[in-house]
Amino acid sequence: MAAKHYDVLRDDKYGRYLVANKDLDSGELIFTDLPFAVGPKADTPPLCLSCYCPVENTLCSRCGWPVCGAQCERSPQHAAECEIFSSVKVRFQPVTDWTASAPQLDCITPLRLLLAKEKDSERWQKELEMMEVHSEARQQRPLWSVDQVNIVNFLVVHCKLGDRFSKELVEKACGILEVNAVEIPSRGGFSIRAVYPRLAIAAHSCVPNIVHTILQDNYKVEVRAAIPMKQGDPLHLSYTHALSPTIVRREYLLESKFFNCDCPRCSDPTELGTHLSTVKCSKCDNGVILSTNPLDNEAQWLCTEKTCGFKTSGSAMRKMLSVVQAEVDLLDALEPGPQAIEQREATLNKYKSVFHPRHSILICIKYALAQMYGRVATYSIDELTDVMLERKAEFCRLVLKTLAVIIPGDNRMRGMILYELHAPLMYLARNEYSIGLITKEKLKDRLQEPIQCLADAERILSREDPQSPEGMTGLIAAQSLEQLKASLDAI
Ligand SMILES: [Zn+2]
Ligand SMILES: [Zn+2]
Ligand SMILES: [Zn+2]
Ligand SMILES: [Zn+2]
Repeated sequence: MAAKHYDVLRDDKYGRYLVANKDLDSGELIFTDLPFAVGPKADTPPLCLSCYCPVENTLCSRCGWPVCGAQCERSPQHAAECEIFSSVKVRFQPVTDWTASAPQLDCITPLRLLLAKEKDSERWQKELEMMEVHSEARQQRPLWSVDQVNIVNFLVVHCKLGDRFSKELVEKACGILEVNAVEIPSRGGFSIRAVYPRLAIAAHSCVPNIVHTILQDNYKVEVRAAIPMKQGDPLHLSYTHALSPTIVRREYLLESKFFNCDCPRCSDPTELGTHLSTVKCSKCDNGVILSTNPLDNEAQWLCTEKTCGFKTSGSAMRKMLSVVQAEVDLLDALEPGPQAIEQREATLNKYKSVFHPRHSILICIKYALAQMYGRVATYSIDELTDVMLERKAEFCRLVLKTLAVIIPGDNRMRGMILYELHAPLMYLARNEYSIGLITKEKLKDRLQEPIQCLADAERILSREDPQSPEGMTGLIAAQSLEQLKASLDAI
């Protein structure tokens, strides 16, 4: 029997929200939920409508929409829409660039949601009918008219589904997806979206206290306590990228989830001491620039040195972030290799006098470097100098220190970074021992920390699907832990 350790409450601020109905341990399963519908995200390049891998020029022989092959063509995920498209002879229109986003696919997930409603009207009534869709706010957005063409008109008129689904109902389906869907990885690791009616009730906080894991065979979600909780504590999920700075998170939440976040992290100019938004003052030596009111995007940013008094506007700060972020995004497009490390190091160097060392921009680069040192050509773990090993370890610790505040407890990111941290610690200790810098006893002592890293990584990542990259890392952590313990006994 699945766990159900929550109650649904209601108030004016959050609407419906979830609370723990008993004291919970860290890692304890609170509930599981099956998606009501799964499908491509909006604005996605052509992908197989069954397994979601990217496709090029391969179309379903029956309906003419993208699938990767005969097996996916006949899969149950694609069956219902395949029948509709075949019967009205509405085919996917050929595209020239198969890597560019294909708005034609925007209709798929709304259609699947509507088909799921027909199939399970009881669950729709109980769990989806009352979902918040923010119609008024959405009608003001440019996306509304785009959706009217690509989704509402397309399904109602072009695909002749008006008898089954009214225009208003299709609009509602779009709203449910826009406001309530979460991004999940597909079996092949591509990004898709799904609606989990129960998970969607959890309120947002930029410091979440629950974590969710997606199982790959049926996209079931498992929701766990990230930290110990008391009976009655609200369950908080985060809808934003954990390491984004406040301005970017709040903008995203307002744009896509239609609310102004005023959580403790958003309210604090230092982001709870993590300094993810903190910028160095260019006019004095020791000052940093912080927002005078992070809940107001227009508020001034002020130097912390009283004698300096340097000020700048919220909009200038936003603009500067966008410019630098665009530069950093280019780094993510680099092929893995020595260049990917060297260009990131150069970017860190370029901006070290602009941002606090733990600013979002720098910490994201450091996070990437923490994963790359030891893993790319000419920087494999055996080739790293002690200085580079120290650097990998330093970046891992910096990220862990930040994560402990903003996503406390056990979560995938922490598990993955703990796994990364074990390697430099182990190599540094062995290198020092091999040149006689430390004794055998000291070596044994020093290997305790990487052992702990691996044990924690294994515990956290064993909750992930074994087919996912995180789940696989968990299995490798378990093996490495055994090997390290055995080598310790042999010393
Ligand atoms: Zn496929
Ligand atoms: Zn088909
Ligand atoms: Zn917040
Ligand atoms: Zn200053």
